[in-house]
Amino acid sequence: MSAHTEYPEALELLVQAFVRLPGIGRRTAERLVFSLLDWEPELLAEFGRRLANLPNAIRICSNCGNLADREKCAICLDSGRDPSLICVVESPAQIMVIERARCFHGIYHVLGGRISPLDGRGPDDLRIGQLLDRLAVESVRELILATGADVEGEATASYVRESVKRSGLRISRIAFGIPVGGDIGYADSATISMAIGSRHEIT
Ligand SMILES: [Zn+2]
Repeated sequence: MSAHTEYPEALELLVQAFVRLPGIGRRTAERLVFSLLDWEPELLAEFGRRLANLPNAIRICSNCGNLADREKCAICLDSGRDPSLICVVESPAQIMVIERARCFHGIYHVLGGRISPLDGRGPDDLRIGQLLDRLAVESVRELILATGADVEGEATASYVRESVKRSGLRISRIAFGIPVGGDIGYADSATISMAIGSRHEIT
């Protein structure tokens, strides 16, 4: 285990920083750090400045909780979006994924996590109060609950559903199931059961 200590400390510290990122193992981190060694000093300095500036440059949208560079995020400011349709997600990363699919034209609400008793995170740690505030002043006709398909995601969706019950508000849950192009022969039983449970009528 002491094989890594032969690196100069500056390299080792950078490797350890990269390893903290999701999906980056020690080998990949080492490759990245060695690749940085080839960069021009000015480029490295600029990279460092951008990293250091991140906490100042990124804000949380005062309306939906998405990442923003001013008071409100680009989606909330976009007059082409349908503000009566709110998609509730756990984190801004999920907004990126949904936006990439270019299929949703409403706006969002970021909960800032999920209910997770094991991690000591309860409903009070989520932005549910802010969601209720929005529902009180915005004319929302549908809320789409897009939290994860696992136990915690389901618990979070149920909690939000119970909290926002209001006449005239339609609440829906995104469907889960077989990936497009997927063969049901390869899906696990939990996925099959989700897919059958969230089936819809075809005409
Ligand atoms: Zn926003």
